[in-house]
Amino acid sequence: MSRLLILGCGGVASVAVHKCCQNSEVFTEIMIASRTVSKCEALKAQLEGKTKTKISTAQVDADNADEVAALIERYQPDAVLNLALPYQDLTVMDACLKTKVSYIDTANYEPEDTDDPAWRAVYEKRCKEEGFTAYFDYSWQWAYDEKFKQAGIMGLLGTGFDPGVTSVFAAYALKHYFDEIHTIDILDCNGGDHGYPFATNFNPEINLREVSANGSYWENGHWVETKPMEIKREYNFPEVGEKDMYLLHHEEIESLAKNIPGVKRIRFFMTFGQSYLTHMKCLENVGMLSTTPINYNGQEIVPIQFLKALLPDPASLGPRTVGKTNIGCIFTGVKDGKEKTIYIYNVCDHQECYKEVGSQAVSYTTGVPAMIGAMMVVTGQWKGCGVFNVEEFDPDPYMEALNRWGLPWVVCENPQIVE
Ligand code: NDP
Repeated sequence: MSRLLILGCGGVASVAVHKCCQNSEVFTEIMIASRTVSKCEALKAQLEGKTKTKISTAQVDADNADEVAALIERYQPDAVLNLALPYQDLTVMDACLKTKVSYIDTANYEPEDTDDPAWRAVYEKRCKEEGFTAYFDYSWQWAYDEKFKQAGIMGLLGTGFDPGVTSVFAAYALKHYFDEIHTIDILDCNGGDHGYPFATNFNPEINLREVSANGSYWENGHWVETKPMEIKREYNFPEVGEKDMYLLHHEEIESLAKNIPGVKRIRFFMTFGQSYLTHMKCLENVGMLSTTPINYNGQEIVPIQFLKALLPDPASLGPRTVGKTNIGCIFTGVKDGKEKTIYIYNVCDHQECYKEVGSQAVSYTTGVPAMIGAMMVVTGQWKGCGVFNVEEFDPDPYMEALNRWGLPWVVCENPQIVE
């Protein structure tokens, strides 16, 4: 029996809410809260009468820690699942500290305003010291570890698919297949087609910032940075086929480098079609990906936010997306003195997801692990005081839950490797 406060009612939150409602034995009560309560109400209306989970809704601005804390005081949840945007991570963590309630999310902190001088000073120091220039990193949230320990609460960071399931795959590979892991290649393939010339599968602002940034990977104890899309490989994905994929910076590289002892190289690749890349480059060249406000006819406009208003809402892609995703990790290392390679992956079908919960597979593959991470916390299967990444816990109950709740995985020995 538990009570969960879910912040956000977008693509990912919608799947997490559906999944909590399928898992009523654990999630007896949930509250959906965001700035637009009518959207939370609409989500509630889809599920009411079809689940034993008691659903309530509330209006909250998660940029305001006091407002979130007041809502927590009122609702008294066992944990808060933050599925709003990465911009709200720190205010929600502050609210959890104030009220001594556990915190869970799927994406690490990044600031909404990257021109903010206070943030910029810390960022520029980090770029120099660490050697990667992405706007997001774990330092801000890891800095809460001591405070969470003192408050006796748990923070579980990054329980989506990547980060999230990919990190649990690493812990599982280490526990069951290797004495030491030497390399990890995380491969994120979306073989789906939504029929639009250009659309993003999750929040466009977050997605385009990530994809247009420099790439980077971890090698021999330090970061190697690349130009955006500089490293391209082809890979024949099981159940999807041959795709072009590009090396990106991704947040789980940072935590896996810290938590997987002896790892020598970690890379992240994502597939993109040529149409997506051409559109993105063009939008970038004309300034539409900028986060710096401009003045247009007396009104302040942030170009990337205006672009978001023009693009199809990711939540609307569900009915029109066909095809499959394949996301997983290739591990190399040694077991009993012998070198070995394994590939652990999940294949998810966009239309199957849509039939089940009304969303496409990108939201599904994030929302299901968000529910599972919350379940690990509220049932006490994963326990601890402080701030943790998912690979720090026993992977077995999480891996079992993936099979049970819609994301079955495959272990392939001797797979095709990435050069
Ligand atoms: P959406 O843009 O669809 O939804 C964002 C939600 O956040 C909206 O419901 C919005 O509701 C709410 N929100 C935004 N600002 C606030 C605020 N100030 N206070 C309260 N609520 C707010 O995003 P997605 O569902 O696509 O993504 C959700 C999260 O999941 C993101 O952090 C994203 O980075 C992460 N993600 C993680 C992945 C992974 O594999 N780990 C993969 C994909 C996404 P309203 O406007 O009503 O406030």
